[in-house]
Formats: sequence, structure tokens, C-alpha cells
Amino acid sequence: MPGILVVAETADGAIAPISFELLGAARQLSAQGGGSVTAFVAGPESLGAALISHGADSVIAGTSAALASGTAEVLVPAVTAAITQSGADVVLLGQTSFGRDLGPALAFSLKTAVAMDCVELKIDGGRLRVTRGCYGGNARAEHTWKASPQVATVKPKSFDALEADAGRSGSTSAIADAGEARVKVLGTSKAETTGVRLEDAPVVVSGGRGLGDPGAFKMLEELSGLLKGATGASRAACDLGWYPPSQQVGLTGKTVSPGLYIAVAISGASQHMAGMAGSKAIVAINKDGDANMVKVSKFAIVDDYKKVVPALIEEIKKLA
Ligand SMILES: Cc1cc2nc3c(=O)[nH]c(=O)nc-3n(C[C@H](O)[C@H](O)[C@H](O)COP(=O)(O)OP(=O)(O)OC[C@H]3O[C@@H](n4cnc5c(N)ncnc54)[C@H](O)[C@@H]3O)c2cc1C
Repeated sequence: MPGILVVAETADGAIAPISFELLGAARQLSAQGGGSVTAFVAGPESLGAALISHGADSVIAGTSAALASGTAEVLVPAVTAAITQSGADVVLLGQTSFGRDLGPALAFSLKTAVAMDCVELKIDGGRLRVTRGCYGGNARAEHTWKASPQVATVKPKSFDALEADAGRSGSTSAIADAGEARVKVLGTSKAETTGVRLEDAPVVVSGGRGLGDPGAFKMLEELSGLLKGATGASRAACDLGWYPPSQQVGLTGKTVSPGLYIAVAISGASQHMAGMAGSKAIVAINKDGDANMVKVSKFAIVDDYKKVVPALIEEIKKLA
């Protein structure tokens, strides 16, 4: 098999977590006959060790200083050179601002197609087959490619990263290719987050429109704080201005896959489920026993949240 190229990204000079998830996905494809796994990263060769320990068989570092801008126009020639060098027929990027920009530009330049926002990947008959949500999250579509290479962006938290294994070995090489920059990046700013990041939290407590009152989020924050987690919200709650859009979970919000997801007064619409269905255990607190969230949950408390959440807080405090 020709192989898989993971286009890694960096944050603050280190490999970003999405890159390790992509390597986890690539290793699964490799085990299905997808070939060897190469990672491309824009940056010094020293970044290669982290990629190899998380599953890359080899690393190609794009060392041109021009790549630091991170724009598609400078990256496309470098990634194209990495595809040629590795012989990869599958190219994986994250569904991040980096991948959303680069994936389509790369596919256009290579006269192939890109499938965006994929949540499942497999090798079928020697070719890539991907699954992604469509019709606003109400259906799932499978795609295959007629052209090559097969370029896909992968939704964050769709695949687990492998544990780092310092004993893994692989080769690292450098290329100097870069495109001409026509866009000047004047600056970047980081979104402020306090406490545990929603995407990384081991426990997420989310609230929905059924709370009926924005003040109820204070109660959910107390519960998530006791469980050392983060607080999320449904789109309906965010649209009402009850909670910041940055904390929205779902198709048009964040994707989370915590060990425990507590859904308080959330009905479980498919677009919400698209962002949290990968949670290991879902607990629904809903007064409607027929709500979809109750049906998909591992445990459900069918009652008014105003009774349930304070009682839960009281019990957890006793355990502390
Ligand atoms: C293109 C598109 C993208 C979308 N993206 C997203 C997204 O990213 N995230 C998202 O969340 N939604 C998204 N939506 C909206 C989605 O379809 C639903 O409308 C939304 O998730 C509903 O939010 P909710 O569950 O909070 O509200 P509701 O559906 O109104 O549910 C409220 C729930 O609270 C329960 N309840 C009421 N009172 C109480 C009480 N006192 N105690 C306990 N339970 C109570 C009710 O039984 C009900 O189940 C999207 C929609 C579209 C079309």
C-alpha cells in the first residue's frame, strides 16, 4: 500500500493534540492495510520525536521559515512535496482552522477531492472510505474517492491518541519547499479560558433550554467544579444568551468525549449528540422519560433538575 500522510500542526512550538489523534486514526488504517504512516510538520526536525513516539513511522519536517505563517498558500507546495516523498495515497488533516484552510486548497491544487469533518475512517478494498454527518447532522454519509490522493479532514476527538512510546523508532528528514506568501498574518490572539478546557475535560456537565433560567448554570458550574470538569451547553441555551457560545457542544459547537457527560435538561437532538456521542458514560437528568437523551444514556434520573442537581451536589460534597 502506498501509505498515509498525517499533516501535523503545532501550538506554542509543540505538537498540537489533534496531530496525535490523527496518528491514532492513521495507525488503525495502517493495520487495515493502509501502508506506512508518515507525518509532515512545519517546523524543526526536533519535533519528529514526539510524532514517532505517537505512531509515525517516519517524519518529514518542513523547515522553511516561510511556513511559520501557517497559511495554505505557503503550505501547499511543502505538503505536496511530502506526499511525493512519502508516496502517500491518503492525507489526513484535522478539522481545525488549519485543516479547514489547507485541506480544500491542497485537494484543489492536486486535482483531487477532500472530505471534510470525517468521524470514521476505514480502508475498504484498498481505498479510503469515510463517514461524515450531513443534512445538519440528521444523516450520515459515506464517501470514497475516484481520484488520488484521498484527502480527509478529521473532526477533533473522533479518534483516541495512542500512548506515547519512547521506544518506537523512525526516521526524520527535512524539506525546504514553501509557497509564495500573498497573505500577511498581522497577529494572532488566543481565546481566554479559565479552568479545565471543555474539549479536554474528563467530566462535562451541560445544560439545555429546559433549565428555563440562565442563573441555573451557576448550579451546573458548582457540580462540574466538584467533579473537576467543565461546563457546556446546548445550542438552544447558547442562542438564548444563557451561556457563552464557546461552550456550545454539538455539530456547530465543540466535540467532547469525556469519561462522564451529564446532560441536564437537554433533549438529545441529533445535532447535540454529534458533539458528545463519543462520551464513555452519559447521564441524563430530564423530566421527560421519553427524551432521546434519556434513551441513549447509561444512567438517567427522570425528574425536575431543580430537585436532582442540588441533591447530587450535596451528596458529592459529603464524599469530598
Ligand atoms: C444546522 C443545525 C446545527 C445545530 N447545531 C447544534 C449544536 O451544535 N448543538 C446543539 O445543542 N444543538 C444544535 N442544534 C439545535 C438542535 O437541533 C436542538 O434544537 C437543540 O439541541 C435543543 O436544545 P435543548 O436540548 O437544550 O432544548 P430542548 O430541545 O427544548 O430540550 C429541553 C429539554 O429539557 C427538558 N426539561 C424541561 N424542563 C426540565 C426540568 N425542569 N428538569 C429536567 N428536564 C427538563 C425537556 O424534557 C427537554 O428534553 C442545531 C440545529 C441545526 C438545524
